[in-house]
Amino acid sequence: MILLCASYALANGITTHLWVSEQALLLLPEGELKSLLSSEEGHLGLVNGTVFPDGGYAVGHAYGEAGHWEPLQSAYRSWLVDELGSPPYDTSEADFVGFFFGMSSHGMADQVFDSMFMERSKVYEGVLDPSLDESSDILLVSQGGGHDTFDAFIPYEALIPLYAEQGIEVDEDTLDDGHSFARLEPFVVGTIGADPDAVAEYAALYPWTNEHLLDATVFGSPPLEAQVVAAYWQELYRRMMEDIPTEVPYLDTFPRDGAFGHPRGLNDVESRITIVFPRGLEANLLGPQAFRLREGEPEEAGRELPFSVDLFYGQSSHVVLLTPGEELAEDQRYTVEVVAGEVFDREGGTFPVGGAFSFSTGAAPKTAAGGEPPQGCGCRSSGLPQGMLPALLIAWTLSGRRRRQVSAPLAGRLASAASLRAC
Ligand SMILES: [Zn+2]
Repeated sequence: MILLCASYALANGITTHLWVSEQALLLLPEGELKSLLSSEEGHLGLVNGTVFPDGGYAVGHAYGEAGHWEPLQSAYRSWLVDELGSPPYDTSEADFVGFFFGMSSHGMADQVFDSMFMERSKVYEGVLDPSLDESSDILLVSQGGGHDTFDAFIPYEALIPLYAEQGIEVDEDTLDDGHSFARLEPFVVGTIGADPDAVAEYAALYPWTNEHLLDATVFGSPPLEAQVVAAYWQELYRRMMEDIPTEVPYLDTFPRDGAFGHPRGLNDVESRITIVFPRGLEANLLGPQAFRLREGEPEEAGRELPFSVDLFYGQSSHVVLLTPGEELAEDQRYTVEVVAGEVFDREGGTFPVGGAFSFSTGAAPKTAAGGEPPQGCGCRSSGLPQGMLPALLIAWTLSGRRRRQVSAPLAGRLASAASLRAC
């Protein structure tokens, strides 16, 4: 979400979305898709598509919310295959294709972050102002670096008719308006995130987020978002080549198969089990019959436990939360099963093959491998000369066809931004 829309307090900020897409690109295996998205044209499409959905919030238009979700994204994927054919694509088409993968990254990242990291932040830090999206964006810049500015690209000829088919009327001017704000956000956040005093204020407000934002052991953190997005992209690319049903029923699970040390508490946010699916799900057909939670290894027929099922964000969401209905036992292994044919996607299809993963509440036999958080100094925030900053900030705050709201703490930071210190 964007800083300009103070009422929207969910999800990753735009700079975090860019960070996730860039990291996911690094995680892709060598091959056609990585080459395509790494090309100049593909990367331009990727970064534009990554920021695009939140531009709609900035201008208060419904195109933003719809841009987050698979119905619009899948329609665009079909448009790409109809217009360009199936992969491989050459670089002259890569901006259109990259835009699709950027939008897909954005939608999936928001769901993964919100369902796990934000849910923990709510418990440990509360719901605060400024919002988690704004604050975590600035903290991420301070820890993982900002993102360079980039030229605008929007595939108007595809998107405008596809939005119309979904009952959303939008024109080029509106898309330009929202997108210009989305593209400017990394510059503004990068500037604030390079100011140690500003970072300290946000860190004091969100100490748990500040400590764990780049912690790959915390479910829903940006490093794990990038892993899910990379897996999602490979699935989407496969479907562009041949739209056949997925064999693996889920993209990822938290805890992961074979994990140790899973928390046991009843109604503890940490004891929830999260399953991320490769297709948006049909909420009305999702229930406990689609899953089993039982003691023991997958091949064992252990005692079954009660649990509740929540499709996070409802219709077309990819993320299912299972909450155990009783306290988990000490040093016990549990298996979660996804029942073949019982999870329905939003188009009525099922996942014909089931799957199972197991985790333990006991300690790992030896030290578990931990991910090293990416390092950065937060210097990369902008390619713009610093002398442009005051004018740009004023233009950013006041320009456009309507006046935007800026949260009070951020407005204060903007007012003092002219005296920002370099990293
Ligand atoms: Zn968003």
